[in-house]
Amino acid sequence: MKVSAEQVRSSPGRRLRLQVDEPVPSGAEDVPFVAPVRGEVEMCALGGRLRLRGRFSTEAELACGRCLRGFRAELAAEVDEWYDPELGPTEEVPVEDGVLVMPLTDPEVDVTEVARQHLLLALPSVPLCRPDCAGLCPHCGADRNTDPCTCAARPVDPRWQILQNVLGGLP
Ligand SMILES: [Zn+2]
Ligand SMILES: [Zn+2]
Repeated sequence: MKVSAEQVRSSPGRRLRLQVDEPVPSGAEDVPFVAPVRGEVEMCALGGRLRLRGRFSTEAELACGRCLRGFRAELAAEVDEWYDPELGPTEEVPVEDGVLVMPLTDPEVDVTEVARQHLLLALPSVPLCRPDCAGLCPHCGADRNTDPCTCAARPVDPRWQILQNVLGGLP
């Protein structure tokens, strides 16, 4: 969904409210969005600038960082950005009152593209299928969530035990 600066400026109160509900490819091969991107957006024109405020959500298919199982995770992002047509595309992005000021190089703001970028930024650094995921056994590879193995209970190989004693005895 694209909104032109002109559309915002010619709206009553120079303010435009929009609903987003459309399938958007995530653009990241290993992290597909599996639900439409939904959100509410308010755009307003102030001086020559545009401000976009909104919240977006979708669901992504992720692989658990512990057990490697695929699972769906909800992603949510809040956006608050200014667009300034006076800014060159390579100029440093100033921050005013904690709000990013972006260059407006097109006459239109691509709202779904803004949503896509912010939703990707909302991805967890280590995705977990659930907070207490037990992960895979490092010895036999069993999924300890569904297939509790006995590796941890098995006694240490006596040959390793000797080595451990030697290392433990070193100063
Ligand atoms: Zn897991
Ligand atoms: Zn095991």
